[in-house]
Amino acid sequence: MTDSTAHNFDTLAIHAGQAFDPTTGAVIPPIYQTSTYVQNSIGNLKGGYEYSRGGNPTRTVLETLLAALEGGKHGLAFASGLAAEDTILRAILAPGDHVVLGNDVYGGTHRLINKIHGAWGIRNTTVEMSDLAAVEAAIIPGESKILWVETPSNPLMKISDIAALSALGHRHGLVVIVDNTFASPALQHPLAHGADVVVHSTTKYLGGHSDVLGGGLVINDDELAEKATFIQFAAGPVAAPLDAWLTVRGIKTLSVRMERHSSNALAIAKHLQAHPAIERVYYPGLPEHPGHELAAKQMSGFGGMLSLAFRGGAAAARTFAESMHLFQLAESLGGVESLVNYPSEMTHASVRGTELEVADNIVRLSVGIEDVRDLIADLDAALPAA
Ligand SMILES: *Cc1c(COP(=O)(O)O)cnc(C)c1O
Repeated sequence: MTDSTAHNFDTLAIHAGQAFDPTTGAVIPPIYQTSTYVQNSIGNLKGGYEYSRGGNPTRTVLETLLAALEGGKHGLAFASGLAAEDTILRAILAPGDHVVLGNDVYGGTHRLINKIHGAWGIRNTTVEMSDLAAVEAAIIPGESKILWVETPSNPLMKISDIAALSALGHRHGLVVIVDNTFASPALQHPLAHGADVVVHSTTKYLGGHSDVLGGGLVINDDELAEKATFIQFAAGPVAAPLDAWLTVRGIKTLSVRMERHSSNALAIAKHLQAHPAIERVYYPGLPEHPGHELAAKQMSGFGGMLSLAFRGGAAAARTFAESMHLFQLAESLGGVESLVNYPSEMTHASVRGTELEVADNIVRLSVGIEDVRDLIADLDAALPAA
């Protein structure tokens, strides 16, 4: 199998970057658990690899695969999603620059830009990404360099128009970055809608089994990719060989997992919508969701994430989150097993007191691929009798 990008997505997910091992015939590319590589003579490398911070064959497999899945030119793999984010921010920004980002991005993204980069003179404005006029008003001519979009967003599953935001960002000379973690490339291709860079926490759906941390960047522009690759090498936030291998293994089943995540989540969203204890279900697959039409156009499925607002406020939300058995109370998402999260004190605790604060009656579900009848029974048992 070669790296032909002529194949369709489901084939690429299994084969891109993954030729069999030429010496043994091993179908699966090995875990190259090595830090360094013997040289033929000084500076004359055997296979292009010199030291594993700069490159490792197992990481190369994942990087080739990520680029193929997003339909982009350059893929880069990192130790975590935030390591990937930090790298692309540094590749673009200089002190004094300004970032425009969604007002409901992942809390850690806001923390990274606001606290870490903020200390180096980077300013930011958070804005409602579905309001194009507000986004345009937030752009400071000559100073804003990045438009950071996350769609669907976390935890309220807001849908932003990638094509419209990319056109707007480009009119003002901004680099448009899309965090595609929630949809995964199985459901959404931001580069095809005009974005410049795709960011992933591969920890979530790409890895898919809650057993590895990782991050990815996919970049089309050669010069920007070269800068990011230099930072990856010079600062060293790289994906380790075993982590890269686990992520590659997870990606093989991405499409079938996303289908089941999506059908389970839709069934649960419809079921819970009717429950009197629940004020609102946030799921883009529901026709009532404000981003439903856009999601139907921009995505090829609605994904496995949904959030619930409880009529009974924080107490009802907390009791529910702590009462389930199959839905385990934990941070993170995107694994085959179902998880429940209480954003205001867990994933989004870092944004309390900011504009990104999440209401305390919200519970987020990462719907796994278990039998949906068992999941619904677990949810029902944790809700007050209807
Ligand atoms: C988890 C997450 C991140 C951060 O990724 P890590 O792998 O935890 O560093 C970034 N964006 C989104 C949308 C996430 O869910």
